Amino acid sequence: MLWVGLTGGIGTGKSTVTRILRQHGIPVVDADALAREVVKVGTDGHREVVGAFGPGSVSNDGELNRKEIGMKVFNDRTKLEVLERIVHPRVRTLCLQEKNQLAASGNSIAFYDVPLLFEKKLESTFDQVVVVTCDPQIQIDRLMKRDGFTEEEALKRMAAQLPLEKKVTAAHFAIHNNGSEVDLEKQVSDLLAKLRKI
Ligand code: ADP
Repeated sequence: MLWVGLTGGIGTGKSTVTRILRQHGIPVVDADALAREVVKVGTDGHREVVGAFGPGSVSNDGELNRKEIGMKVFNDRTKLEVLERIVHPRVRTLCLQEKNQLAASGNSIAFYDVPLLFEKKLESTFDQVVVVTCDPQIQIDRLMKRDGFTEEEALKRMAAQLPLEKKVTAAHFAIHNNGSEVDLEKQVSDLLAKLRKI
């Protein structure tokens, strides 16, 4: 099975590409979903996060208060490292399980949607890497529209990631998501045709 890493920048269109891939019947494992799974209420991951971040990190329903924790780690490297030490090894284990299951059920291609693929130096764990990119102004506009960010907030989040040009250079394939969704669908079909020949 060809194991393909799918990455990009915040708001460049990874989730939209994931949706299109799934419409083609291609399995996509979602790193953010795995990261939520491993700290769901009742897991040892949940217990460890609450131990490290205190009772204020839990919402009324018992689940982690992601917004609260997100604010704590966004400007504090040490706290981010504490969180990552809890979450990352568990995500790695779960990801490997899902990958093995997909291969065992006969899939010839599967994707892993992982926003910080390059920042976390995961390139070597994939056969191929695809980056979804778009022009900065389009990225800002989509973030303002999707997340209700001001332009300044969008820029701050974009600056926290590796520059998109670097990701494009380092990837095997780039999807330039500056046009319509129809245009994006065409690029995804073309990409799949190329990957099937590898
Ligand atoms: P990411 O997962 O990379 O953060 P998304 O796929 O959520 O990005 O895309 C960001 C926003 O832009 C979403 O609201 C999405 O619906 C919109 N979007 C993505 N691609 C296009 C496109 N080609 N045309 C119009 N809107 C788009």
